[in-house]
Amino acid sequence: MGRAPSALSLLENGRREPKLSLIEALAAALSLPADELMRKQPPSHRAQLEIALAESQRDPVLADLGLPPLRVGAKVPNDVLEHMLALYDELRRQRAKPTATPEEARAANADLRLMMSERGNYFAEIEAAAEKALAPVGYSGGALSQGMLLAVVSHHGFSVRYAQDLPRSARSVTDLRNRRIYLKQEPLGVHTPRAVLLQTLGHFVLGHSAPADFGEFLRQRIEANYFAAAVLVPEHAAARFLREARDARDLSVEDLRDVFSVSYEMAAHRFTNLATHHLGIPCHFVKNDEGGIIYKAYENDGVVFPADPSGAIEGQRMCRQWSGRQVFMAADRFSPYYQYSDTPSGTYWCQALVDSGRERGFAITLGAPYEHSRWFRGRDTTVRTRSRCPDPGCCQRPPAALAARWEGMAWPSARAHSHILLALPSGSFPGVDETDVLDFLDRHAAD
Ligand SMILES: [Zn+2]
Repeated sequence: MGRAPSALSLLENGRREPKLSLIEALAAALSLPADELMRKQPPSHRAQLEIALAESQRDPVLADLGLPPLRVGAKVPNDVLEHMLALYDELRRQRAKPTATPEEARAANADLRLMMSERGNYFAEIEAAAEKALAPVGYSGGALSQGMLLAVVSHHGFSVRYAQDLPRSARSVTDLRNRRIYLKQEPLGVHTPRAVLLQTLGHFVLGHSAPADFGEFLRQRIEANYFAAAVLVPEHAAARFLREARDARDLSVEDLRDVFSVSYEMAAHRFTNLATHHLGIPCHFVKNDEGGIIYKAYENDGVVFPADPSGAIEGQRMCRQWSGRQVFMAADRFSPYYQYSDTPSGTYWCQALVDSGRERGFAITLGAPYEHSRWFRGRDTTVRTRSRCPDPGCCQRPPAALAARWEGMAWPSARAHSHILLALPSGSFPGVDETDVLDFLDRHAAD
C-alpha cells in the first residue's frame, strides 16, 4: 500500500480517520470487500470488549475520576474486562440517573397523595411524636409560645442560631456535631421561622436518615411538615376547639389560624389532618395560583381534581367555576369567600382565601361535601356555580362566538410552569447545594 507502519497504526488505534481511497486500498490488500472493513460489528468478542472499555474511559463520568488511562494488554483475560465493563456501566447509570425526572417526581407525588387520602390525612404516629415532644414543656392550649417552642427544641438537645448567610438552597442547616439548628429570622415563602425550626426538628424526632430516593425525600418532607403542624396546632387542643366550633355550627379555617397563630395555609392543611378523624368530615384542600394552576391538592371527599394521564394533579389547571379561581374575582379576595359548587361528582361547599401574607398570588381552598356544609361558617352563602369539567365544553374551550371572532388570529406564547416539580439536582439531599452548606457550617462552627 506504500504506507508507513506508523500511519497504519494510527488507523488501527482509532487516532486517524481513513479516506475512502485508503479503505479501498486496504480491502484490496486483505482480499476483502471494502464494506467488510466498514461494518459496525466488532470482528470478535474480545475486540468488542476492548472497544467498549476504550469508549468507557472516554466517558466524562470516568474521566472525572482522574484515573490514569488503562492500557489493556493481550494477557488481560476476558472476564476481567467483562467485570470492569459491568462496573463502568453501573457507575454511568447511577450518575446519569437524576434524583428524579419530572415523571418520577409526579408518580411519587401521586403515590403519596393516594396514601394520605386513604388514611384521611391523619398520621397517628406523628401525632403521638408531637404530643411526646410537647409533654415536658407544660403546654395546655392555644398558640405555642416562643419560650415553649425553644424548650421543645432544647429538650431534644439542640440549640437555635439565626444566620443571615444561610445557603439559599436550604431552609435550615443543622450542625449535628454541635447540635445547632441554623435558621433565617424571616419567613421563607409561607413557612414561618417557627414552622421551619419544627420541620427541621421533625426529621430528627421521626428518625429520618438520608433519603435513598425521591419518593423517600418527599415522604420525609411531608412527615416533617406534619410534625411541625402537629406541634404548633396540637391535636387534642385543636380537636377540642374544632368540636366546639362544629357543635356551634361555626367551623372556620381563619379561627383555627388565629387561635394557634399559624399561617392560613397551615391552618387549612391542619384542618384536613383532623377533620375526618375527629369530626367525621371528609374534605379537600387546594392551593392554586391566579391562573388556576394547582400547586398542592388533597381530597378524601370524592372531589375530582384535573389530572394528566399519569394521574399527576400538580401543574394542572383547575375549573374556572371552582372557588379557588372565583375568589380572585371577588370584590375582597383577602376575606374568606364561600360558595357551593355543583360538579359531576357532587355538590361541595368551599371556603377560599388569597393569602394576604408573602404569597399573595395563591388561593387556599378548603371544601367539604354539601351534607357537611351545615357545620361551617359561611354555609348561608348564596353563591353557587356549576362545573362540568372535565367536559371540555365547561371552561376549557372558549365560547364559540369568541373563538370564531379570533379564528387563526391569536398567537399567545405560553409561560413555562417548569418551576413546578423541576427534576431536582442530584446529591445526598435533593435541591441542596452541598458545598454551600459545608462552607456555611465551617464558617459558623467556631462561633
Ligand atoms: Zn370547568
